[in-house]
Amino acid sequence: MKILVINTGSSSIKYKLFSIDDNSVLVHGNLEKIGEPGGGRHTYVVLSGHSENKILRDEIIPNHTVGLNTIVSLMTHAETGVIKNVSEIDAVGHRVVHGAETFREPTIIDDQVLDAIRENVPLAPLHNPANILGIQVARSIFPSAVQVAVFDTAFHHTIPPKAYLYALPYKLYTTLKIRRYGFHGTSHHYVAGEAARLLQKPLSELNLITIHLGNGGSVTAIAKGKSVDTSMGMTPLEGLIMGTRSGDIDPSIPHFLASNADMSIEEINTLLNKESGLKGICGMNDMRDIVLASEQGNPQAITALEMYTYRIKKYIGAYLAVLGTVHAIVFTAGIGEHAPQIRSRVCEGMEKLGIDLDTTKNLAARDIAREIQTDGSATRIFVIPTDEELDIARETLKLLT
Ligand code: ADP
Repeated sequence: MKILVINTGSSSIKYKLFSIDDNSVLVHGNLEKIGEPGGGRHTYVVLSGHSENKILRDEIIPNHTVGLNTIVSLMTHAETGVIKNVSEIDAVGHRVVHGAETFREPTIIDDQVLDAIRENVPLAPLHNPANILGIQVARSIFPSAVQVAVFDTAFHHTIPPKAYLYALPYKLYTTLKIRRYGFHGTSHHYVAGEAARLLQKPLSELNLITIHLGNGGSVTAIAKGKSVDTSMGMTPLEGLIMGTRSGDIDPSIPHFLASNADMSIEEINTLLNKESGLKGICGMNDMRDIVLASEQGNPQAITALEMYTYRIKKYIGAYLAVLGTVHAIVFTAGIGEHAPQIRSRVCEGMEKLGIDLDTTKNLAARDIAREIQTDGSATRIFVIPTDEELDIARETLKLLT
C-alpha cells in the first residue's frame, strides 16, 4: 500500500510518498515558487535503503496542477520513478491548516467536506485556500485514491473552554467563532507519541510539555495524552516569539499604532506577522545567524535570544502549573532539534522545578530522538525530530483500514 502526503502552500507543494508495507519513504520533495514568472525549483529525492538520489530542477511551474503533474511524471518515469502508474497510490493525505470546530479528527474528503473546509477560509485566509487547491488538483490527478484531510488544529480539540475562550463578549465566540484553536497539532501529536515510545508507557498515562520551535513556534500542555492548552491562538500569531511574528503583545498596541503611527489595519497585521519577532528585534530571523551574531557580541542578537528563550520559559512555567506533574518536556522542529544554546537557556535555572539539563548530552549533535537530562532530573528532557508527514500518513492509514 502506498500513501502520498501533500502539504500545499500558496506557492509550494511539499510531498512524501510512503510505502506502508515495508514502512519506508520512497520519495520526498518540494516544489517552490509556483506561479513565479522567473521560474521555480523542484527538489525530488528518491530514497533507497540508506542511499538517496537528489534531482534538482529549475523550471517554470505556472500553477499547482502543472506542479503536481511534474511530481507524478518524475515518480512514474523509467529512470527516476518509484511507481509505474498513479493508480498504485492508494491514498493522498493532505495537511489542512484550519479545521475550526468542524473537524476534530482526520476526515475522508468528499464534496461536503471540501465545502466545509472552504467555509473555514475566513479563519485561515492565507492557508486554507492553498490546501483546498491541493485537494482539488490531487482529486483530478489521483481519481482512484482516497483523499484524507489531516488538520493542524485537530489535536487541540480537547482543550477545555477555560483555555480556549478569550475574555471577550461571549457572542463573538458563538457568532464569529473567535476562540483559541492552536496549530502545529500534527507535530505536537507526533512527538508526544514518540515520547511515549521512549518512556515505554501509553500516551494516555503521560503529561508532557511539547515545544515546537521552527520558523513558527508553539508550546502545548498535554495531560493524559490530550492537548489541554497551547500557545497559539485563533491564528498562529499568538504565543511565542517567532521568526517574524510577535507572539503575545498587549492587545492595545494595534490601536495605539493606528492612532499614533497612522498605520492601517492591514499594515499593522503585516507588521505583527512579517516584520516582528526575532526579525523585528535584531533584523535576522534565521536562528543560525542570530546565534552566530550573538556569539560575536551583536547586542540586538543577544537581546533577541534573551527575549526568545524567556518567553518559552514563561510558557513552560505556566504549563507546569497547569499540569502539576510533567513526565517529559520535548524540544522539536528546526530550532528545538538543532540549537543546543536555545535549549540550555530555556532550561537554565529550572533545576528546582525538576528540569535539569545535562550540558554534555545537550551539546551532542545527533539526528535521532534522544534524552538530554541529568540522571537526577525529575523530568525527562527529550529532543525528538518531528515528522509531520509520517503522522499524516499514519492518520490517513487509520481511515483506510
Ligand atoms: P518551518 O517552521 O519552516 O518548518 P523549521 O522547523 O525547518 O521551520 O525550522 C527553521 C528554523 O530552524 C530556522 O530559524 C533555522 O535557522 C533553524 N535551524 C535549523 N538548523 C539550525 C541549527 N543548526 N542551529 C540553529 N537553528 C537552526
